[in-house]
Amino acid sequence: MLENSDEIAEGLNILLHMFPNTKIYVGIENNKNDAIDAMNKAVSGINNIEIVALKTKYPQGAEKQLIYAATKREVPSGKLPAHVGCIVQNIATVHAIRNAVVLGKPLTERVITVTGGSIKTPKNLRVKLGTSLKELVQACDGFIVEPAKIISGGPLMGTALFSLDIPAIKGSSGVLCLSQKEWDIAPESNCIRCGKCIDACPMFLIPSKLNSMVLKGDYDSFEANHGVDCIECGCCTFVCPAKRHLTQTCREGKRRVLSKKKK
Ligand code: SF4
Ligand code: SF4
Repeated sequence: MLENSDEIAEGLNILLHMFPNTKIYVGIENNKNDAIDAMNKAVSGINNIEIVALKTKYPQGAEKQLIYAATKREVPSGKLPAHVGCIVQNIATVHAIRNAVVLGKPLTERVITVTGGSIKTPKNLRVKLGTSLKELVQACDGFIVEPAKIISGGPLMGTALFSLDIPAIKGSSGVLCLSQKEWDIAPESNCIRCGKCIDACPMFLIPSKLNSMVLKGDYDSFEANHGVDCIECGCCTFVCPAKRHLTQTCREGKRRVLSKKKK
């Protein structure tokens, strides 16, 4: 947003042409005043675009949280944003739309963060899609120490990788290479019913209950208890003193329920 604010404003204008009578909210966390100022300047003079300074908290970027923060509309359980008349687009997508319409240029590259205690020189890299993750690590001067865990994405929502011999794709946001010290977590133990996961869940779910349903293979109860509303934010796993694999089981439960519906 800092480097391409005018181009993003062009992309927003294109969206306004595609969806007339629409209002666009651009949500930016309120600790990024430079981005807020840059975007306010770029969209000045364009009607129906409002830059909204959002409270800096996690998770704030999920669709349902963003819609509520910007419009105070609540997306009901099991429904999509369109149900409340909203569409959520990543700002990088808006920029890609602008490049496609104005320059006729397809999406061929994206910015990927390469970081973690094992990386010698952490960087944000603009890379061509298809570049191997191994080359990205090499561009950051390689490892200081061998990573104990490699994650595609961020620390809370990312997916563990078994190899760096895979390409960057349009959904790749980061490569996190954690050292043994950073990955030194206790083994999973029994739930002590402390309720911390319930307090932490932004979707008002009961992660401990969903976890036990998935472990029993009771996917009907998982669905009845709104498990598919889980946004896989990782907050429950992060706060759990018993190190229960709550997010992973919710992800598995959602996968099972959705694949059953497709049959
Ligand atoms: S990952 Fe955990 S905290 Fe986050 S929405 Fe799912 S159940 Fe709730
Ligand atoms: S935070 Fe962990 S230990 Fe506490 S109730 Fe939830 S699953 Fe059980």
